[in-house]
Amino acid sequence: MIFKQLFDKTSSTYTYLISSGINREALIIDPVLENVDEYIKILEDLNLKLVKVIDTHIHADHITGMGELEEKTNCQTVMGDKTPIDVISMRVRDGEEINIDGIKLKALHTPGHTIESFSFAMEDRIFTGDTLLIGGTGRTDFQNGNPYDSFKSIFNVILKLPGNTLVFPAHDYKGKKNSTIDIEKNTNPRLQVKSAEEYAEIMNNLNLPSPKLMDVAVPRNLKLGKS
Ligand code: FE
Repeated sequence: MIFKQLFDKTSSTYTYLISSGINREALIIDPVLENVDEYIKILEDLNLKLVKVIDTHIHADHITGMGELEEKTNCQTVMGDKTPIDVISMRVRDGEEINIDGIKLKALHTPGHTIESFSFAMEDRIFTGDTLLIGGTGRTDFQNGNPYDSFKSIFNVILKLPGNTLVFPAHDYKGKKNSTIDIEKNTNPRLQVKSAEEYAEIMNNLNLPSPKLMDVAVPRNLKLGKS
């Protein structure tokens, strides 16, 4: 398997490039517009053909590279079926499996950070978007986010995976690259709670400023990043 974890310094976003290598088909998760040329170069260097690009959710902190990748490579754009984007080429339902050249990704609806957030589980790992972060969880105070949904998505869906499942989030602000379900269960400060109410209390009192790019990024991302 080919697996690349790429990092956007400006927004601290992780982008993932995955391929089984068998028929050279590849998939990218959460691309950042400014880095599209870098992705194309990596695909060329590895002799890979991009067939699908996925956004875990509508990002508020960076502009997605989905539209530009679609234009440049003719790949399909994919999101969970709760996405309000009408120009997406493929919507996946909760529990549905995406198969790319032997790589199987299971779509899991994990709302909370945003209502349309999906996570994608694959063999030994899960891409959690901003639903579950390393030592944190995605804020729930905009884009129809909801701390009770976040609690359910994390405790009833993501943490039900085997403890040694690797966790790959859409962001990390401290340079950590991955974690595991067990590590998050046992050490993530937001998850050391006894009830959804206790979790909501934490999430409702984060008092975070809005992402700087939010007013630009969200409308652009509803058009796959195109202006
Ligand atoms: Fe987000």
